[in-house]
Amino acid sequence: MEDTKTQVLTPSSPSFKKLFSKKPPRSSNLNAHCHICNLQFSSIHKGFECSVCKKGVCKEHILVRTAMTLLPICDDCERSRIKKEIARELAPQYKSLKGDMNWMLKEKEKIKTEITGKYEIISRLEIQMKNNEKTYAQRLENFEKKIEEENEREKTVQNVIESLKNALTESQNSEEQMKRKNEIKAEEIKTHIEEIKEMKESEEKFLNNIDEINKNLRNTIPATKIKSIACSKCYEALKETFKEKYMDALRNEGRESLLASFILKASVKPTEGTKRARIESITRETCKQCLLM
Ligand SMILES: [Zn+2]
Ligand SMILES: [Zn+2]
Ligand SMILES: [Zn+2]
Repeated sequence: MEDTKTQVLTPSSPSFKKLFSKKPPRSSNLNAHCHICNLQFSSIHKGFECSVCKKGVCKEHILVRTAMTLLPICDDCERSRIKKEIARELAPQYKSLKGDMNWMLKEKEKIKTEITGKYEIISRLEIQMKNNEKTYAQRLENFEKKIEEENEREKTVQNVIESLKNALTESQNSEEQMKRKNEIKAEEIKTHIEEIKEMKESEEKFLNNIDEINKNLRNTIPATKIKSIACSKCYEALKETFKEKYMDALRNEGRESLLASFILKASVKPTEGTKRARIESITRETCKQCLLM
């Protein structure tokens, strides 16, 4: 392989010296200096022509390729030739690598798309999750509110029950009080009835008394009228006899009472027998004309 391909000779190698001793081709119209190192050509520093770029080149920068023919070549051209060769050699590898790379790029693109899709899904899920969280928070809040309301309601109901209980107790108490009051009232009414009974009795007694008095008053005459019905003689005589009573009667003028004792017949009590006798004697003795008889 080495034989068929290029074999590079360094300027110091014996084969190179051999080559140059055989007078390698020299350019007739060489540039005045080496196009690589700028060395001025002279009789000591001879210039050569590159078989590829045809530019002038010094001894240090020229190679001789041993192929079919011996051709001088400058370092630049040799370098680019090697590059090309390497490139040719590596072309299949490069191709396959490029293919691999393209495939990898495609894969990368695919993965990127997938990842983007997944990211989108994730962000969508995140949004959904946030929304769900919000909804659940709202629901929880509502639920808590409802529980609180229920508690409030229960409290209210308990209060109502409590107040109803109180009212019941109160009404029971007041019922009892009413009962007691009624009992007292009944007692009072009883007393009143008894009082009324007593009053009726006493009224009856009183009426009886009045009847009695009226009975007694019958056949009596008021003192004030005596003067008008008696003759002067009888009047004087009566006045004298019942002096005290008569005075009393006058003092109580207008009242049909005391002169009830100025009695002519029935109401004179038996104990007053003497007075009666006197009245009788007076009337008998004094007069048979006046109304006092
Ligand atoms: Zn060249
Ligand atoms: Zn040179
Ligand atoms: Zn008389």
